[in-house]
Amino acid sequence: MNLILLGPPGAGKGTQAVRLEAARGLKQLSTGDMLRSEIKAQSAIGREVEAILARGDLVPDATVVRMVETRMAAPDCAKGVIFDGFPRTVAQAEALNAMLAAHGQKVDAVVVFTVDDAILIERVTNRAAAAEAAGQPVRPDDRPDVFPNRLAKFHRETAPLIAFYERMGILKAVDGMQPMAEVEAAIGRLLPAK
Ligand code: AMP
Repeated sequence: MNLILLGPPGAGKGTQAVRLEAARGLKQLSTGDMLRSEIKAQSAIGREVEAILARGDLVPDATVVRMVETRMAAPDCAKGVIFDGFPRTVAQAEALNAMLAAHGQKVDAVVVFTVDDAILIERVTNRAAAAEAAGQPVRPDDRPDVFPNRLAKFHRETAPLIAFYERMGILKAVDGMQPMAEVEAAIGRLLPAK
């Protein structure tokens, strides 16, 4: 089974992806994590995307699609994948459909997290402040001068995917403003049995 967790930055997709990974034996694939690893390693991709992530802009579709395609060929993706942060544009969604179809697979369900912008800003501001107070590193793109750009990119580039997957008949919505355990239970009820 291949699932997509769709939603704005700070909506809790990563937290739920980890829980689903454990519950369903699927592989979480976070393109944000993959890109941050490339930056840490200062690989060719890492050097190409570093400034883009720091600004809160989107990495070019071709770069992300190539990275996902390579990653999905690994054996740990064979049972299915939970996409977290991918696709983020209609072009990426179309590329994913084609990529899966080429292997006789498809996207089985898309869970969209609905969270008000004001709540996202509050969550991310609090998260950054708590990390700072604890002397821990703050993600540069969680800073108050960058986060609004990530939110704007979501509304402009990624939100059209809601209609895209609705048309495919596989979209499910959860209220991402509930406590984490309740979001998890709601997702469990929405998804097809294992
Ligand atoms: P995330 O950890 O999912 O919030 O992603 C962090 C950053 O990585 C985003 O703000 C983008 O700059 C970049 N990124 C992650 N996934 C994608 C994607 N699917 N398409 C384009 N850029 C991405």
